[in-house]
Amino acid sequence: MHGHGTDHHPRIPHASRLEGARVLLVGAGGLGCPASLALAQAGVGHLTLADPDRVDVTNLPRQLWHRPPDVGRNKAESAAAGLARAFPGLSTEALPERVDASNAEGLFRAHDAVIDATDGVATKFFLSDVAVLTGVPLVYGGVLRMQGQAMRVDPGGPCLRCLYEAPPPADAVPTCAQAGVLGSMVGLVGGVQALLALELLSGAARGVPGEATLHVLDGVTLTGRRTRVARAPDCEGCRVTAVPAYPEEAEACAT
Ligand SMILES: [Zn+2]
Repeated sequence: MHGHGTDHHPRIPHASRLEGARVLLVGAGGLGCPASLALAQAGVGHLTLADPDRVDVTNLPRQLWHRPPDVGRNKAESAAAGLARAFPGLSTEALPERVDASNAEGLFRAHDAVIDATDGVATKFFLSDVAVLTGVPLVYGGVLRMQGQAMRVDPGGPCLRCLYEAPPPADAVPTCAQAGVLGSMVGLVGGVQALLALELLSGAARGVPGEATLHVLDGVTLTGRRTRVARAPDCEGCRVTAVPAYPEEAEACAT
């Protein structure tokens, strides 16, 4: 599906495309839970969830796969178990580890699409670079205050660095005090990310080469808009030739 000779299943009829699809979710929290629900509901056959963190009691109201007995358990394992309970026919894999320079390339190449469900700003740029390197589509998602954003990074760009030259300032990232009201925004963005992946996996995506669509959702006015994003001519992210170093960054509040 992403070309480059890395397809691991033969061309399959349209109806069973989703059944044969493999999606990697990097993060099994605020974005990863709703995104994985929507992907499973649509009939995607396999979901891999990667998250090194443990379920905290504050996650329970907003991250639907985690239940009170899961507090302290690895989030990827807890989410995969929740998905298996709700979707017995779904194939899942839990990776209780970070997706970083040591494993990112192999993990991307083993999937048809990747969902960026992380809450670390610099990590999002790392994942974008790996998507460019491998040619595996990535769906970026983020919530900044009461604004949500989602964009698919398709092979040929644009990438996340075409959109933002540098990670947004630290004060744009929600604090724990804000996280409660942001919970519904995060759920909304996770659902949109799943739709953008499904559009691609089902073969319905009709993009213009070298262009992407940034979806912006305003949680105050309850409106959405779409912005066309073009490749930035001098973008370093579009010229990645090796797995970049994994960024060290301050831990954001888990939404
Ligand atoms: Zn770029």
